[in-house]
Amino acid sequence: MSVDYDVIVVGGGHAGTEACAMAARLGAHTLLLTSSLDTIGQMSCNPAIGGIAKGTLVREVDALGGLMGRAADRATIQFRMLNRSKGPAVWAPRAQCDRTLYRRAVRQLLEAFPTLELTQGMVTNLLFDSPGCPRIAGVETADGRQFRARAVIITAGTFLRGRIHVGLGTQIPAGRAGDQPSIELAQVIANIGLTVSRFKTGTPPRVDGRTVDWTRVARQDGDPDDSRFSFHQRAERPRQVPCWITWAGEEVKEIIQRHLKESALYGGAISGRGPRYCPSVEDKIVKFPDARRHQVFLEPEGLDTTELYVNGLSTSLPVLVQLEFLRAVPGLERVQMTRPGYAIEYDYYPPTQLTPWLEVKAVEHLFFAGQINGTTGYEEAAGQGVVAGLNAVRRIRGQEPVVLGRDDAYIGVLVDDLITRGVDEPYRLFTSRSEFRLLLRQDNALRRLLPLAERLGLLTADELRAAERRLAAEESILTLARETSITPARATGPLAASGTSLASGERVAVVAKRPGVSLGALLEAAGVGAGLAVDAVLAAEIEIKYDGYLVREREAAARLAELASFALPEDLPYLELRSLATEARQKLDQIRPTSLAQAARVPGVAPSDLHNLVLEVARWRRRVA
Ligand code: FAD
Repeated sequence: MSVDYDVIVVGGGHAGTEACAMAARLGAHTLLLTSSLDTIGQMSCNPAIGGIAKGTLVREVDALGGLMGRAADRATIQFRMLNRSKGPAVWAPRAQCDRTLYRRAVRQLLEAFPTLELTQGMVTNLLFDSPGCPRIAGVETADGRQFRARAVIITAGTFLRGRIHVGLGTQIPAGRAGDQPSIELAQVIANIGLTVSRFKTGTPPRVDGRTVDWTRVARQDGDPDDSRFSFHQRAERPRQVPCWITWAGEEVKEIIQRHLKESALYGGAISGRGPRYCPSVEDKIVKFPDARRHQVFLEPEGLDTTELYVNGLSTSLPVLVQLEFLRAVPGLERVQMTRPGYAIEYDYYPPTQLTPWLEVKAVEHLFFAGQINGTTGYEEAAGQGVVAGLNAVRRIRGQEPVVLGRDDAYIGVLVDDLITRGVDEPYRLFTSRSEFRLLLRQDNALRRLLPLAERLGLLTADELRAAERRLAAEESILTLARETSITPARATGPLAASGTSLASGERVAVVAKRPGVSLGALLEAAGVGAGLAVDAVLAAEIEIKYDGYLVREREAAARLAELASFALPEDLPYLELRSLATEARQKLDQIRPTSLAQAARVPGVAPSDLHNLVLEVARWRRRVA
């Protein structure tokens, strides 16, 4: 049977579900085709959303109408704002989630879209209009069904030729534990002629909380306040629970060193590179031999289970060795392991083969998003899902692609890094990847992205109205702070922590610039703080405190925008541009940047190459005119 859709999304993970949400929000007739409907929104590894940089990205996805923040809010069993001891510009929201509630929330949110259909099926083939045609026309499933569409987005995660390793002896073809791998689709994509590479990642063992000695581990509670990820919805929160902290010390180190050769990673069974910043415990012990101990978090898998995720002990050692080292961790002496950890190797496609809107350069209307582009992490996948979903619809409607700038959003940084620089290890987002860290904050994601969401028609009228009210509240607090004066006597309390005082009356906005002084406390002391929304006060406080730095970053962003507005012709014959160094010519020919700003970020392109490139473009334009 042949069915026609605007967009087909292959895969119901974090990239796929966001791509569906975007396409459906734009009114496209969309099909989510995934190997198991029961695992839509499944968190393959740790049951947590957000964290440093990632939490900001979740809020960006939310500002654009995505699912991740809303689903996380419905499933949050512990919420913490990380980096609270540092300035609020680097605060990072993170939610420990109930794995089952999260999955259910994603599915419910998807099922609310009237133009989105969900179907179970393992995609094994891609359809083209005619043999050798560089435009995608649909997909075929293992059971022989064909689905035709004007655009296809592939988000197959770790499933493409996925292979699980537990020690040296156990190797299982799988997409992740309990899921079939995707072998045929990997072969079909390789046949298109794309470059294929291998990465690996790993997950720790899980244990039964009933067998933990709670007297030997430290309790970590969530924040007392009531924050959420989503700007658009305020979900009822499930019961909140603590996490627990313990340490892997000398004894664990000794066991792992003794068995190192049996690890899939160190015994030579795995060739793919793993994420440097989510290392296995074997990696930590080999790479940091002088560290006396490594922190371990025991994180609940959910409210209706006693199973715990042992964050920090990801491993590819044999099962019995895993149990041995677990029992050497304080508090886990009698622990029962419910599932072993494992490593997984999978195919990915170097993302320099994609356009800035994540379309495969070699095949029109075929998009890739998520782990298959060489990234790691739910949030990174979600951000790409948004870009691919949005642009798949725009492409089939003949509209200009939407590309988020590096100064617009972490999503922009992520995609630009991928397509311009490529990856040599699983790519994870960090604040250090952005040159505009103060501009790209978790608190101002709505302010940054609402105009775009509105222009593209991504939000409902109700969502738009509520978002505008929220931003207006922030503005009015800024005005209040700038117009209200506070007397020295009233300022004494709010200024106490800073060890400073006022000689005479002063504007609240001026006093709030002092380090350690809270805007909320000043407004209250001045008698105008009642009834103000906490989030809005915080956003206003950051704008006041970082005003000078923000001005500088905005100037730098404006300079980048100037470079970005210098467009590079699509068919520029880079290899013939003799005034550029050979390396620059080759790299630019491979990446084919769309602007001078993007060319500047291509590794191997020197400032002198950029200068010559401008002259070459002018010459080329005259020649072809
Ligand atoms: P996935 O979430 O993997 O979703 C892929 C989807 O595609 C699934 O729904 C699957 O059913 C579907 N699918 C696959 N092939 C087909 C097909 N042919 N036809 C139809 N449907 C198909 N991230 C971290 O940040 N830190 C970690 O420590 C970490 N550890 C991990 C450990 C393991 C063992 C695994 C498996 C993943 C780990 N991750 C980790 C990565 C994280 O899970 C992914 O980054 C994230 O899930 C990627 O999202 P995605 O949407 O790209 O793919």
